[in-house]
Amino acid sequence: MDGKALAERIRAEVAREVKELGTVGLATILVGDDPASDIYIRRKHEAAKEVGIHSVDHRLSAETQEDELCALIAELNADDGVDGILVQSPLPKHLDEAVLVRRLEPAKDVDGFHPENAARLYQGEPVLAPATPTGIMTLLEEYRVPLAGARAVVVGRSLIVGKPVALLLLGADATVTVCHSRTPDLALHTGEADVLVVAVGRPRLISPEMVKEGAAVVDVGMNRTTDGLRGDVDPAVAERAGLLTPVPGGVGPMTIASLLRNTVKAARLRRC
Ligand code: NDP
Repeated sequence: MDGKALAERIRAEVAREVKELGTVGLATILVGDDPASDIYIRRKHEAAKEVGIHSVDHRLSAETQEDELCALIAELNADDGVDGILVQSPLPKHLDEAVLVRRLEPAKDVDGFHPENAARLYQGEPVLAPATPTGIMTLLEEYRVPLAGARAVVVGRSLIVGKPVALLLLGADATVTVCHSRTPDLALHTGEADVLVVAVGRPRLISPEMVKEGAAVVDVGMNRTTDGLRGDVDPAVAERAGLLTPVPGGVGPMTIASLLRNTVKAARLRRC
């Protein structure tokens, strides 16, 4: 499943919508100097610029205290030129992500992590859903992967990928199993999946014999190894699976495209 090509098409669509709307603003907040976060933030700004979204990159020192961050969030919440706000994770250890996310104006929470947005997803009526799971669903739809009645297995239960993608798959009428680090005999579950989504952070956790013949496999993993960027799925799975997302070029570009889409959606919702 070619995420790069689909993401390009979505970005072109977003660019047209931005033109229609006039101006769309995105503000990002990065605390500290984590090199991976720096790359992700730069990519998000490049992509935003390319589609005509006005983006502002707020960089704060690793020593920033909660009250300073809350003050910046309040300022951005009140700024009419800002349609979307995202706080890049991970945050330095002394800051509580859950507390800060609650400070975001839900209508501007383009990452979809605010409890109000999480609740809407839980209720089966997502408005701003997290970007990676949304991108995964768009890819599955593009490749016409049947979901109603399918056995879907999600490996990983994080708030940013595993749990929300499980809810979206459930919303699409799949029968969903969520596996995690305490799941005994992982292969027993993955081997039954018509649709397998893997979001763990362990290179080559999923080997070909763990996958059902013809399954659609989505590899969310992004592991920086000495051999370069690797997913959680052994690329040899391609010989057994019906469909597989590559790493890089699969879920990564779809995440950014979905973030841009969410920003335009937030802009539309705020204006109507
Ligand atoms: P987290 O570390 O938050 O969650 C990992 C999950 O994997 C946990 O639920 C954990 O279980 C589970 N897990 C760990 N070891 C095993 C195991 N041996 N068997 C089964 N489950 C296991 O990670 P994220 O969800 O944030 O990210 C996962 C991966 O996806 C990372 O490589 C990350 O870089 C990548 N990623 C990629 C994105 C993209 O755009 N392509 C976006 C976001 C993430 P437990 O809960 O029990 O600890």
